[in-house]
Amino acid sequence: MFKKIWTDPVWSKVISVGIIGIISLAYALIKSHSDNITVSQVYESLLQLKVKVIYLLGILLFFYIVKKLTKKKSKSYYTPKQQKLREFNKLRDPNTGIMFRWVVYFDYEKPFISDLEAFCTKHEGAPMRFVRNCCPIYNCENSRQSIDFHMVTNHIESILIDEWDKIKPR
Ligand SMILES: [Zn+2]
Repeated sequence: MFKKIWTDPVWSKVISVGIIGIISLAYALIKSHSDNITVSQVYESLLQLKVKVIYLLGILLFFYIVKKLTKKKSKSYYTPKQQKLREFNKLRDPNTGIMFRWVVYFDYEKPFISDLEAFCTKHEGAPMRFVRNCCPIYNCENSRQSIDFHMVTNHIESILIDEWDKIKPR
């Protein structure tokens, strides 16, 4: 309940102002007691601070707006479910040691892949990218292998369409 009110843009501001009001009143009471002056005198000195406070609030508001604008820009173009499906972007064949990488896009509601590339993982260091459908390392068994990218694309997209069917909203 409180969380709901707090996240409400209007009520959260009302509560913030209320809290600031209570704090300033408490400060005024303590200050008037310790400095032996009246509460109104404390408020007078606070009013002198007001200009500085408004200036500060202006700066804070400016940063808030900038933050909001930049946040909107970086907000993902994909829905959370599409993002989840997009995480499926590589697959390694344990028999051949060939790893495939791709990027998932959506044609309206249907997923498809692009930028499909094959890498050989049978060597030291980073996986070696294929050159002209085979591993460029001489003597590697995958250098004699020729990848049919059309078939691989069809295989991956079949998995994607099936996965998408399972997670997409009814
Ligand atoms: Zn290789």
